[in-house]
Amino acid sequence: MSKIAHYLQEHLTGEVMTGADARRYFATDGSIFTITPSVVVYPQNENDVRKTARFTWQLAERGRIIPMTARGAGTDQSGAALGNGIIMVFPAHMNRIVEYDSKTGVVVAEPGINYGRLQQTLHTHGRFLPPFPASYEYSTIGGAIGNNAGGEKTVKYGSTLDFIRSLRVVLANGEVIETYRLSKKELGKKLGLSTFEGEVYRAIDTLLEDSKTVLEDLNLAVTKNVAGYDLYDIKRKDGTFDLTPLFVGSQGTLGIISEATIETEIYNPQTTLFVAKFATIEDAQAVVMSLRAKGNMPSAIEMVDGKMLEMVSTINPNQLKGVIEAPFPAVTLLVECDDASERDQKKTVKQIRKVFEQHKTGFVEETDPKLQEKLWKIRHASAAVVSHANGNKKAIPIIEDGVVPLARFQEYITAVYELFEKNHVDVALWGHAGDANLHMQPFLDLSQVGDRQVAFRLMDEYYNLVLSLGGSTSGEHNDGRLRAPYLEKVYGPAVYEVFDKVKKIFDPYGTLNPGVKMGVSLDDIKQLVRTDFTLDHLYDHLPRS
Ligand SMILES: Cc1cc2nc3c(=O)[nH]c(=O)nc-3n(C[C@H](O)[C@H](O)[C@H](O)COP(=O)(O)OP(=O)(O)OC[C@H]3O[C@@H](n4cnc5c(N)ncnc54)[C@H](O)[C@@H]3O)c2cc1C
Repeated sequence: MSKIAHYLQEHLTGEVMTGADARRYFATDGSIFTITPSVVVYPQNENDVRKTARFTWQLAERGRIIPMTARGAGTDQSGAALGNGIIMVFPAHMNRIVEYDSKTGVVVAEPGINYGRLQQTLHTHGRFLPPFPASYEYSTIGGAIGNNAGGEKTVKYGSTLDFIRSLRVVLANGEVIETYRLSKKELGKKLGLSTFEGEVYRAIDTLLEDSKTVLEDLNLAVTKNVAGYDLYDIKRKDGTFDLTPLFVGSQGTLGIISEATIETEIYNPQTTLFVAKFATIEDAQAVVMSLRAKGNMPSAIEMVDGKMLEMVSTINPNQLKGVIEAPFPAVTLLVECDDASERDQKKTVKQIRKVFEQHKTGFVEETDPKLQEKLWKIRHASAAVVSHANGNKKAIPIIEDGVVPLARFQEYITAVYELFEKNHVDVALWGHAGDANLHMQPFLDLSQVGDRQVAFRLMDEYYNLVLSLGGSTSGEHNDGRLRAPYLEKVYGPAVYEVFDKVKKIFDPYGTLNPGVKMGVSLDDIKQLVRTDFTLDHLYDHLPRS
């Protein structure tokens, strides 16, 4: 065992492993990349995280950089849950609900808690956490915060950041801070601290003041966006200040979250679901725009395209039997409303019906939960495509999360079809029509040099397309390693320089998840592509003590 592992083993209460099988297991995540860590740590508590960070900081002061990567369930599709130093695996021990306030619905949880387990617990209290990702059954809250995850309900409720009230964060040097919205007076106290925390507050405050003009360009005209660092709502006009938005979505590159205080919403399982079919993308876009323009927002506006349904019916002919039959429409929309009060839901339902009628769109309306479940299969059938192998070709997550302004949705989809046709690659589209944030995973065989070249060509053409439409490279899956080479193009060099300064303020030695988000080139990531892409790791690897 290395000296580093030995030191950690002596000082931590959680397990430390360097065995080949554990390191191999954590060498992949949900992305196309592979990096083998040197040491696997399963922190038992915040103190373990703190001591590990302190140790890597001390080594860095002496010139030795040991990267530290926080990891939840490792379902990240951008390659951000990988690193060649210490992998800190949270689900093993730091997986508890610390506190639940039944009056406010506010929950305090450790980062390693399984999202699905937390959701079930909240349901028993009549609450839920709305921005759950499609992977919620096997991913963690820490990962959702790390990525600022979103999902089918984001169109109404927002992304993970909108629910995080405060965080406990272990900084690069092992200091623990608590973030929340500070009053002007509290900020003044932080600015006066002689600790690393004080240094961080002073430097970020100055940076925000100095970069005001540059940051005016930060907000893209999209409804959701997780690319870069969120500098938009740290300092408000009233002088209040909150570092939370910076940590949410920072993928472990600014600090390691050891606890989160999370707001929740009233859970109403009594929903109304509409399914509508469209012969053209234009017609579907017109309905989406009208739905979004109404006062009451539906809780989901989801879509699948005809190609997706064709693929699913080829892979598993029984899956859609009795739900939707060929010939499949160009676009199928699923629109849901979940208003907690009966009166509000009736109002939203009426609005949705009116939109469909105005656009002369036929629709099915369903309130029976069993029949709704059947209809949701249309949208959730995407899982069959994601896990399907066509010979050695698999659905590869390389361009799976772009988002464009709503008004350019039809233009976007048409251009995506052209892109795939030109490159002779099969593709299907599904996702969050209400946010113009679509998922797509081309079928490629990464063991073939030719297909790897196609993958990088597709990435280049796709990301340039999204950016030319005024969009962002990621609506919810984040930059990671995959999209980091395009980050400067998303915002331009001046904003990128501000991001770079942010990274250096929090992580002066580069120990926090280096190679993620900042300072990454396409050549860097080409070397990391694995030849055997699978999602086999989507189960827990826990210490076998
Ligand atoms: C089939 C499939 C479907 C998906 N669908 C969605 C979707 O609908 N929406 C969506 O947003 N994402 C989706 N994802 C991506 C991913 O599953 C989610 O973002 C998920 O929330 C990540 O959680 P995790 O526990 O797997 O995190 P990990 O993959 O382990 O980590 C994710 C990031 O968070 C960081 N992190 C983890 N814990 C901490 C911590 N304690 N402190 C600081 N940083 C931390 C990691 O370093 C990494 O950068 C999908 C992935 C797959 C494979």
